[in-house]
Amino acid sequence: MNDIILLKLGELVLKGLNRHNFEEQLMQNARRRLQHCGGKFKVYTKQSITYVEPTEDSCDVDAAFEAMKKIFGAVGVCRSRACEKDKDAMLAAVREFLAPQLAAAKTFKVECKRSDKTFPLNSIQLAQYLGGELDEAYPHLTADMHHPDLTVYVEVRDDAAFVHGDVEPGAGGLPVGMGGRAVSLLSGGIDSPVASWMMAKRGLSLEMVHFFSYPYTSEEAKQKVLDLAGLLTPWTGRLVVHVVPFTAIQEELRRSCPEEYFTILMRRFMMRIAAQVANRVGAEALITGESLGQVASQTMEAMHCTGAVTDLPIFRPVVGMDKEEIVRISRKINTFETSILPYEDCCTVFTPKHPKLKPTLKQCEEAEAGLDVEGMVTAAVEGIERVRIGWGEA
Ligand code: ATP
Ligand code: MG
Repeated sequence: MNDIILLKLGELVLKGLNRHNFEEQLMQNARRRLQHCGGKFKVYTKQSITYVEPTEDSCDVDAAFEAMKKIFGAVGVCRSRACEKDKDAMLAAVREFLAPQLAAAKTFKVECKRSDKTFPLNSIQLAQYLGGELDEAYPHLTADMHHPDLTVYVEVRDDAAFVHGDVEPGAGGLPVGMGGRAVSLLSGGIDSPVASWMMAKRGLSLEMVHFFSYPYTSEEAKQKVLDLAGLLTPWTGRLVVHVVPFTAIQEELRRSCPEEYFTILMRRFMMRIAAQVANRVGAEALITGESLGQVASQTMEAMHCTGAVTDLPIFRPVVGMDKEEIVRISRKINTFETSILPYEDCCTVFTPKHPKLKPTLKQCEEAEAGLDVEGMVTAAVEGIERVRIGWGEA
């Protein structure tokens, strides 16, 4: 018999009647990821636990375990060993499967669950038997019912018994797709991959938009953004990156607008274009990696001016976070090393020497008055290149 993976479901079990949809979404997301883990897995949910069961020798359980730790909606993940429904087979499975944990712990307890009521011992009797045997077999271990170093879990189900040790933390959050769809503005920096990850964690499925200023920014800079999207896919699932040709807009702004407004106007164009992409793909919100006060275009007044070009809600999940906090998450989700690669960003190329810190909406509109805003947006949207990023393609 093979090892099986258990996902403990989090918040979503609180969702009352909607719970079934949450479980279905989580299982669907899990099944998609498992397609990349060798053979076929069976995925099903019972009593707030999703079971991921390998059905063929070709199943890569290690890879599946790593993949399941990145499924939003699960608060805990553990590997479990299946064995025969016989008390001594269970004892042998515990001793073999949990050998390193049993050696490291000083105190332990055994918790049993019996969903197969035909099994001759009840949960308490089984726990007493296994606890007694383990206590005897490992002189360094003492039973502790309240704060044990190690809890040995044994579950007797219809088809087999399962043993496992402590549960590792899962990704938390809500299953991707439950909250709808949003367009995330992905630059090559540290903040926007973190912002994207945070909103995917709240159950949004993402479409990425990247503004590309060739030849001011290089092919490598674009590839870096595609790599960042690839690094997010273990959490978000496959992604489409809409690469928007942005050079013409930037050149037009430089030609015909006051320099101090350059950044804020450019960001207004980004929002307009992202909103059009949202409209095309059926997304209902925009996401940015803006953090209050971090740079000139991220003052409250500037955010008011950029947000004013669209009716869509704009989610800025890192708005109240310090750089340190954002960096900590970016390290955790493995995007940091790629984010700090030194390629030019479309914003840094054209940065004005003295950007307007507190622009007003009226000033922005006046500065844009001579532009064919609609025509510029339409041309950019028509030039979009859609790049598909499969799961784990970094
Ligand atoms: P980041 O680390 O995410 O690049 P930042 O601190 O460099 O953020 P800005 O460059 O002002 O800040 O960008 C603010 C936000 O605008 C970004 O987080 C991102 O959501 C969006 N953005 C900026 N440049 C681009 C771009 N070239 N393509 C797509 N989105 C962008
Ligand atoms: Mg940036």
